[in-house]
Amino acid sequence: MKQSKVFIPTLREVPAEAEALSHQLLLKAGLIKQNTAGVYSYLPLATRVIQKISEVIREEMERIDAVEVLMPVLQHAELWQESGRWEAYGAELMRLRDRNQREFALGPTHEEVVTSLIRDELRSYKQLPLTLFQIQTKFRDEKRPRFGLLRGREFIMKDAYSFHADEESLMKTYQDMYDAYKRIFKRVGLNVRPVVADSGAIGGNYTHEFHALSAIGEDTIVYSDNSDYAANIEKAEVVYVPSDAAKEAPQALEKIATPNVKSAKELAELLGKPLEQTTKSMVFKVDDAFVMVLVRGHHEINDVKLKDYFNTDNITMATEDEIRNLLGAAPGSLGPVTDSEIKVYADNSVQDLVNIPVGANEDGFHYVNAVVGRDFEVDGYGDFRFILEGEPLADGSGNAKFAEGIEVGQVFVLGEKYSKSMNATILNNQGREQHLTMGCYGIGVSRTLSAIIEQHHDDNGIIWPKSVTPYDLHLITVNPKKEAQFELAEKLYATLQEKYDVLYDDRQERAGVKFNDADLIGLPIRIVVGKNAEGGIVEVKRRDTGDSEEVAVDALVDYIEGLYEQV
Ligand code: ATP
Ligand code: MG
Repeated sequence: MKQSKVFIPTLREVPAEAEALSHQLLLKAGLIKQNTAGVYSYLPLATRVIQKISEVIREEMERIDAVEVLMPVLQHAELWQESGRWEAYGAELMRLRDRNQREFALGPTHEEVVTSLIRDELRSYKQLPLTLFQIQTKFRDEKRPRFGLLRGREFIMKDAYSFHADEESLMKTYQDMYDAYKRIFKRVGLNVRPVVADSGAIGGNYTHEFHALSAIGEDTIVYSDNSDYAANIEKAEVVYVPSDAAKEAPQALEKIATPNVKSAKELAELLGKPLEQTTKSMVFKVDDAFVMVLVRGHHEINDVKLKDYFNTDNITMATEDEIRNLLGAAPGSLGPVTDSEIKVYADNSVQDLVNIPVGANEDGFHYVNAVVGRDFEVDGYGDFRFILEGEPLADGSGNAKFAEGIEVGQVFVLGEKYSKSMNATILNNQGREQHLTMGCYGIGVSRTLSAIIEQHHDDNGIIWPKSVTPYDLHLITVNPKKEAQFELAEKLYATLQEKYDVLYDDRQERAGVKFNDADLIGLPIRIVVGKNAEGGIVEVKRRDTGDSEEVAVDALVDYIEGLYEQV
């Protein structure tokens, strides 16, 4: 393709609004253009990369017998009411009305649509297992759309759904998908780590996320240097190792004035104690009951673990009003020494403390030397906090390491969540009606495009992996007004196109502009037709290493063939 005909609006300056490197490069290299917050046009180069990523996905999906469909983006509210997610999905669901005031959503995901499709069509276990996938635009009204394509409000996703008569069949497809995802991300050049994760709003009970390791990642991944262990920090289990370090003789409970103390850190400073020997108490509403949760001062409460412990999704922090009604104080002065009926839960590591400083449930006052069993009871100990870097890992392989990750894909075991709420049944091999068992599997296609750039760039621009590059070769004339250059470039363009996708920079631009653009755009191999054209010599340069070589035109095709193997 002649570059003069392709729409590639490159920029010289880094756009001020772009924080993430991939966002900057997508804009600078002329791949995307913002329409409104979190909504982008994909320009020609990005469109080609999206198509290449999609082709890799299609090949790997078909390899595991998943078949492609295209389901509606416009989804009737009734379907979402049936599953209970019209309410539960909250503000992220893009809602709209038709001319008759009937309510609809723009699909953020397709469990409801696909379940309704299947329940009307599938009758017998003999039609199972069945896996459908699609590649389509999704809509989520994200609270903070940011980082360009990494978190959009409109984005491209590959979503797949599998249907089974039993758990065994589901687990086989889950494993097939897991393996296919590993192949997909490898093929598109992404370094990813599959991690144990939380199932969140989709529901279900077993799931892995695939994270592209990157400093801009919004998730913290806990991993091991000595094993395959990797978990989203939300899920990384803390191994409780009892410690005697803070064991001391119990002292008398004493109430002290702590004006202006609102945090464990301020309390530790006032008392002259290490932060580790203080606690913080927080009140949560679990379904309809209030509970207090204690962790040590240097730990953070992890609400995903609370959800797992109490076996409910319905946990929120109590409001200030609720807390005041219940305990008579503001959040900075709470503690478990109380006449209220509130149940008290504590992180395992609180067992190591004896004389514990806690809020007195009176604004501006704390107790020092509260002792478990004497001044308050703990209704249950558990793992309620985030792991810290360096703590022992649950698989016994060593100590926790942290890295940031971009979630590019996720596989879920859904079980019967949707087939039950939406009544999707089949006849099993005993002729009895039973609910379908399901799995679902997503890849953020547009997010993957960004993640690839996060992992493949240098100061001058993008360095495309060969598998997804928008064009294979960049053919550049330094000065197309010179007859010899023009003619040689035209000839090479015709020849090279037989084997490669060639982007041919035929523009009447200064050489510096052309080279800058070529670096930004980042095709694997550049062929420059310049002043040596008359002598039949061109320059060939690798984008990744920057190595360049003068090559005689007669030898060029073979040379490129060899080099293309290596990049
Ligand atoms: P996140 O935690 O990042 O909000 P999610 O877990 O809600 O994502 P899923 O429901 O698992 O997302 O969707 C499948 C995939 O779609 C994700 O793994 C991610 O790659 C992609 N994705 C989700 N939300 C967005 C978004 N706002 N913009 C771009 N891609 C997204
Ligand atoms: Mg996810």
